[in-house]
Amino acid sequence: MDAISRPTTNQDARTRGDVITLPTAELPRRWYNVLPDMPEPLAPPLSPATGKPVTPDELGRIFPPSLIEQEMSGERFIAIPDEVLDILAMWRPTPLVRARRLEAALGTPARIYYKHEGVSPTGSHKPNTAVPQAYFNRMHGIRRLTTETGAGQWGSALAFATRMFGMTCRVFMVRVSYDQKPYRRTFMRLFGAEVFPSPSPHTASGRAILERAPDSPGSLGIAISEAVEEAAGRPDTNYSLGSVLNHVLLHQTVIGQEAKRQLEAAGETPEFIYGCHGGGSNFGGIALPFVPQILAGERIRAVAVEPDGCPSLTRGRYAFDYGDTAGITPMVRMYTLGHDFIPPASHAGGLRYHGASPIVSALVHSGAIGAETVAQSEVFRCAELFAHTEGIVPAPESAHAIAAVVRKAGELREERRGAAILFSLSGHGLFDLGAYEAYLDGRLGDQADQGEAIAAALAGLPEVRS
Ligand SMILES: *Cc1c(COP(=O)(O)O)cnc(C)c1O
Repeated sequence: MDAISRPTTNQDARTRGDVITLPTAELPRRWYNVLPDMPEPLAPPLSPATGKPVTPDELGRIFPPSLIEQEMSGERFIAIPDEVLDILAMWRPTPLVRARRLEAALGTPARIYYKHEGVSPTGSHKPNTAVPQAYFNRMHGIRRLTTETGAGQWGSALAFATRMFGMTCRVFMVRVSYDQKPYRRTFMRLFGAEVFPSPSPHTASGRAILERAPDSPGSLGIAISEAVEEAAGRPDTNYSLGSVLNHVLLHQTVIGQEAKRQLEAAGETPEFIYGCHGGGSNFGGIALPFVPQILAGERIRAVAVEPDGCPSLTRGRYAFDYGDTAGITPMVRMYTLGHDFIPPASHAGGLRYHGASPIVSALVHSGAIGAETVAQSEVFRCAELFAHTEGIVPAPESAHAIAAVVRKAGELREERRGAAILFSLSGHGLFDLGAYEAYLDGRLGDQADQGEAIAAALAGLPEVRS
């Protein structure tokens, strides 16, 4: 427990104005693994071939042994290799910032802090896991990775990380984002990655979708099928996933561990913690290190925030489902809208996933943490307010967390109650200006209710005897 609860002395942390920074030496040296602290053990993932718990051998076709071990580890702390720390230290520890101008604009007695993950080389929290994933694959002799990307942040992070270790990567990018964000494509190519729009004619899964729906906007589920299919078919190639899996959330816990030390330095305990939720990695990263305190009954409420157009945690079913659309990945127990659910095209591509992290799902199911939805118009209004007050253009994904924080700050204003709110600013939105252009031109409304599409996709959940 000591690494996540050790108080920080005031010499360690520096507070300049409203920015709380930690020296490089304070970068966490261990990841926090929540698995041994879960209220109930997670159900094992099931093989799509046999319906039985998936074996390390099956996973070994696409993942290196060290990541498979982390996926199932019972160790509460896992050491971060020096080679990984050296790269994380290029931008970590990230600043924690008191959003005093936002507080003033909202007239709230709440004290709002954001953990700024937008300062990474690729502009989001994703390199926190891309770097160790590339490293552990390279150590296992792998020279090439495939992956999916939604808005392009994950592809960018993996392109950067593979470049750091002299590897290459091939990225299947969800079609709608491929068209919306041409500069993300350029960014990945600059780091040496190959980028294909998904669904693509390069894989059997992609071709099957294109036959049924030639104009498919794509989805993360489809892009995952394509990337996994290719990795499973080539011995020199592994697959890398940017969210959802236990080892991804594990790597992201550097965010919450740092935030905890920084808040301690400011003499604060957060009462509310918010993060947007697509697959659960930035939310898990900021919230999981607080789970032992939450389970011990401390007054901390952590809430995952999702778009109302893709509401897996709030309107999905807690059931076994495939991680991808074609049904070639293992089935995991999670909140899911059904692997056939294609979320409506939106400007928060990183949140368009039919499922959710099994860890976050289990914590929501047990009531330890909460989930909320916000609507697209509210999200962009709050993003604009954040830019006007704090000077940072947030990623549309991150702005979902901002919208929930703005709501909570309003409630606290009504209650005339001060409380510390912590949220994850998972990335900046400087590659998302197309979305802001649509917002400023009044072309960005709310999304149609997805009730019917969700019901149809839920009817197609795989049958699992348990
Ligand atoms: C990918 C991404 C998300 C959504 O993914 P999670 O795994 O849920 O964190 C959110 N924000 C940003 C900036 C992203 O790049």
